[in-house]
Amino acid sequence: MSAQVIDGKAFAAKVRAQVATEVGKLATEHDLVPGLAVVLVGEDPASQVYVRSKGKMTVEVGMKSVEHRLDDDTTEAALLDVIKSLNEDPTIHGILVQLPLPKHLNEDLVIGSIDPAKDVDGFHISNVGLLGTGQKSMVPCTPLGCLMMLRDHHGSLSGMDAVVIGRSNIVGKPMAQLLLGDSCTVTIAHSRTKDLPDVVRRADIVVAAVGRPEMVPGDWIKPGATVIDVGINRLDAPEKGEGKTRLVGDVHYESAAAVAGAITPVPGGVGPMTIACLLANTLTACCRANGLPEPEGLTA
Ligand code: NAD
Repeated sequence: MSAQVIDGKAFAAKVRAQVATEVGKLATEHDLVPGLAVVLVGEDPASQVYVRSKGKMTVEVGMKSVEHRLDDDTTEAALLDVIKSLNEDPTIHGILVQLPLPKHLNEDLVIGSIDPAKDVDGFHISNVGLLGTGQKSMVPCTPLGCLMMLRDHHGSLSGMDAVVIGRSNIVGKPMAQLLLGDSCTVTIAHSRTKDLPDVVRRADIVVAAVGRPEMVPGDWIKPGATVIDVGINRLDAPEKGEGKTRLVGDVHYESAAAVAGAITPVPGGVGPMTIACLLANTLTACCRANGLPEPEGLTA
């Protein structure tokens, strides 16, 4: 194996430590505590795990954490009321509605009701538009985490060829905008892309965000390229015991690591950076709301 492993777990710990230091300064110098509210509708087990871990890490960096757990059959009006009260609460600087929402709730409407300044997920169309026009915005956490790791590894990304596989609003599209903002030449590949292997082989930077286990093999990777694997896929792992599973990315790790210059593992790559960036965004939102300078290195 030749690739340098980009340790997202260690990097995320560093980001959280920086956030904690800045939160400490806000408390002593400005008597301010950033507040993050997470809204969870329903009983989805994976979402419950995410929400618990978000709450725990929010408190660990010294921020205020608020959770609103609503029943599966909550009406849209009731959910919008909760968001309205959080929009109006001056102690809350970040609002995250855990997705996916139950089918009877309109996600676009719900996300659109969040105050864009508190939209720490960066999914509100105002933030999407600001990012697309290169203006100051709230940046979606997963692509922001990928960008931070790429900047840390390469310094400047200017002029590099980047291929993003996947065009979702949550990962693929904002990732492409961020790479463009850092002056990469960006290709967005997707399920209809012709000759995907050849497209990927051109890339100095590959970001895989598809949701298909190990679909990118090593022989698609240009020697020395940097591979960021966003995918999180759970596979059965009978070798670990009955009913056991293991996580894999969208990249076939062993074969890709043999040719890449650097690669993020799954787990322990992009995943931990996502929550770290959520905390970074909450801090940024708090600083902006209070007219204070934003800490360096925590935004795009
Ligand atoms: P999505 O399903 O919304 O989008 C997947 C994209 O992949 C689509 O744009 C589609 O065009 C493209 N695609 C599908 N099949 C393809 C193919 N054969 N070839 C090329 N492109 C193809 O998924 P998403 O929300 O963007 O998430 C992608 C993956 O990233 C999932 O595994 C998800 O679990 C993971 N994810 C991880 C984090 C994290 O924190 N690490 C955060 C968000 C998403």
